[in-house]
Amino acid sequence: MKEQSVARVVVVNRQQMAMRVVSVEGLVEAGHPVRAIWEFVGRLDLSRFYERIEAVEGGEGRPAWDPRMMISLWAYAYSRGVSSAREVSRLCECDPGYQWLTGLQVVNHHSLSDFRVAHKGELEGLFTQMLGVLSNEGLITLERVMHDGTKIKACASGKSFRREGRLRAHLEKAREQVRLMEEAGEEEVAPRLAEARRRAAREHQQRMEQAVRELTRLQEAKNGEEGEKVRVSMTDPEARIMKQAGGGFAPSYNAQISTDAAHGAIVGVGLTKSGVDQGELEPALERIEQEMGRLPEQVVVDGGYIGWETVLALDGMQVDLIGPAVERGPQQEEQLVRKGIAKGFHAAAFTYDPQQDTFTCPEGKILKRRGTEEAPGRTSYIYEAKAADCLQCPMKGQCCSRNGKNGRSIRRAELHPTVKDWIDKMGTEEAKAIYRNRAQIAEFPNAWIKAKCCLRQFRSRGIHKAGIEVMWACFTYNVQLWARLCWRPAMTG
Ligand code: SF4
Repeated sequence: MKEQSVARVVVVNRQQMAMRVVSVEGLVEAGHPVRAIWEFVGRLDLSRFYERIEAVEGGEGRPAWDPRMMISLWAYAYSRGVSSAREVSRLCECDPGYQWLTGLQVVNHHSLSDFRVAHKGELEGLFTQMLGVLSNEGLITLERVMHDGTKIKACASGKSFRREGRLRAHLEKAREQVRLMEEAGEEEVAPRLAEARRRAAREHQQRMEQAVRELTRLQEAKNGEEGEKVRVSMTDPEARIMKQAGGGFAPSYNAQISTDAAHGAIVGVGLTKSGVDQGELEPALERIEQEMGRLPEQVVVDGGYIGWETVLALDGMQVDLIGPAVERGPQQEEQLVRKGIAKGFHAAAFTYDPQQDTFTCPEGKILKRRGTEEAPGRTSYIYEAKAADCLQCPMKGQCCSRNGKNGRSIRRAELHPTVKDWIDKMGTEEAKAIYRNRAQIAEFPNAWIKAKCCLRQFRSRGIHKAGIEVMWACFTYNVQLWARLCWRPAMTG
C-alpha cells in the first residue's frame, strides 16, 4: 500500500527581519497621478514659501520640508479623499504614491497640519498662478462663468450653541481657570504638560471671548426679542446654523465657487458666514477680477442670487447676467395672508386708473396716492383709501389688516428700465437655454470637492482656517483638471 505523502508548502515566518532594496522612482508608474501633481506644482513660482523658511544652508537646526513636496503631498492627499494630517503621515509609511513624493521619508502630522493652515496668503498667490497656467493652456476663457454656493459643515456641533447668559458664564469660568493656573506656579506634573494645559486654558478663554464678540455683533444686527434669542457656538463662534441641501440645519459655512464654463475650471473661491446667497455674486466677481485681471463676459446663477440690486450692479459692471427672473413685488402674497387680508382683496382686485392715478377698491371706493418709496431697481407708489370709508365698510374684516386704524393701502411698483430689459431678456429662448446648463457645470465642482476631497465637514475652526481648507480642495480640483486635459494627453501623445 502506498504511503500517503505530506504536502510541502512555503512556511510564513513572521519573526524574521528583512531588508529590501526599493527603487523610489519605480514605486509609481509613468502615468501615475502623483507625477502630474508634482510636475504641475513644479511649474509654479514657490519663492514666497521658500522665503519663510528659517533654516539656511550652513546654519543650525533641522532643514525644513521642501514646500514643493508639501504642496504636492496635500494636493495628492485631497485628491485621494484624505484631509487628516495624521492619516497623510501614516500613508507616507506605506502608500507608494506618498512614498514617491516624500522619497520614503515620513512627514510628522504636526508639520503637515501647520503647513496646511499657515500659508493662506501664499496659497492664494499659488491659486492665482494656477489660473495663469490654465489660461495659457486655453482651459479658461472667462466668456461664461457659472457661480454657485454650497454649505459645508463647520467643525462644531449644534449642541455647542448658547445664548448670552450661558456664554458669559462660560467666559467667566474660563477666565477664572486661566487665573488659577497662572497663580498655581510649579505643578506636580512635567513642565511640558503644565504648559500644554495652560495653553489649552488660554485658547478656551480666547474662544469664549470671541464667542461673546460674535454674539454682540449679531445682537446689534437684530433688536428686541430677536436679539435675545441669538445663539453662538462655543466651539466655533464664527459658524452659523444653515439650512442644508439634503434637509435639516447644521452649523456651517457657505462656500462660493465660480466655474469657467469652457472646461469647468474653478476661477474663484470664497467662504462666507451668510446662510443665503443673496448679495454674494458681486464679491465673487470682484474675486475673479482680482485673480484674473478682468471680469467674465457672462455669469450664470440660480434664483438665490437674483435681486434687482444685483441686476443693476452687474449692468454697471458690464457683465451679462443670466438667471431666473423672479418678479419680487412689493407686497408678496404671503405678507398679505399674514396680515389677515383675504384672497379676494389682494392688489389684483383693485383697479388702477392711469389718468387719475388712483385705484378703485372692490366696493367702489377711491384710493389716492399718498407716498412713494424708492428701492434698488424699483419705485413703489403707495395708495390709500379714506379711513372713514373703510371703517363703515362691511368688507373691512377681509380687506384691512387686523390691527389697522387707517384706510386700506396698496402699492404699485414701477421697475427700473434696466430691470425691465433684463426680465425681457430672460424671457428669450436663448437665455433660457444658457440657464438650463447652469446646474450641470456650476454644481459639479461643489459636488467634487465634497465627494472626492471628502470636504463635507471642516477639520479647522474659524472662517479663516476653513477658508484655507476650501482653497486646498479647489487647488486640487484644478490640478486634476489640468492632469486630465493637458498632462495625460501629452503623455500618451
Ligand atoms: S375696506 Fe376699504 S378698501 Fe376695502 S373694500 Fe372696504 S372700502 Fe374698499
